[in-house]
Amino acid sequence: MRRRGGDEDAGGGPVTAPRPTINLPVLVLNASMEPLSIVPTRRAVVLTLTEKAEVVHEDGRWLRSESLRLRAPTVVRLQRQVRVPVRRRAGLSRRAVLLRDGQRCQYCGGAAEDVDHVIPRSRGGPHAWENVVAACRRCNSRKQDRTPREAGLRLARRPGAPPPAFWLLARVGELDDAWRGYLTPYLGVRWAPVLDLLPVIHRR
Ligand SMILES: [Zn+2]
Repeated sequence: MRRRGGDEDAGGGPVTAPRPTINLPVLVLNASMEPLSIVPTRRAVVLTLTEKAEVVHEDGRWLRSESLRLRAPTVVRLQRQVRVPVRRRAGLSRRAVLLRDGQRCQYCGGAAEDVDHVIPRSRGGPHAWENVVAACRRCNSRKQDRTPREAGLRLARRPGAPPPAFWLLARVGELDDAWRGYLTPYLGVRWAPVLDLLPVIHRR
């Protein structure tokens, strides 16, 4: 199947298969413009129809029902600021760790498929951003229940927790190109490259 030119020009990762518009993810911004969550289109439409949110970006597609015809949003903004816990931590998952580390083994720089606890859990290492890294199978099996020093391995960089905007992306696992401008300021230079690793949402 041939992809349309627009998808190839989008500049992101691979393109996801088309799905019904009503199920596609929409980025929700706080009133302050800070990325807050990602919800299905149907939820975003309810937020706008009840005037809890305003449409910030739409891509020209229409949603139709018997009683309604409106443009599908891709980004909405809450009318009133929602308080976010000061230190909301990004959810730690295999996918999120692989994204954080650019899908590169943090010991040898090769393609990573696994995650590794730097200080093994059997040795009291926590399941936390600061102690989990992407790793290839080879390094993982070489390391076993040892510390990097014991196994003769060296970390490329000290692992740490990414910002909340990263967590939103890791949870959804895909990107709408319209979101880039709203996410980049909250990802910062270090984390923005993750945008190029995510599959781009194919909107019909
Ligand atoms: Zn490796």
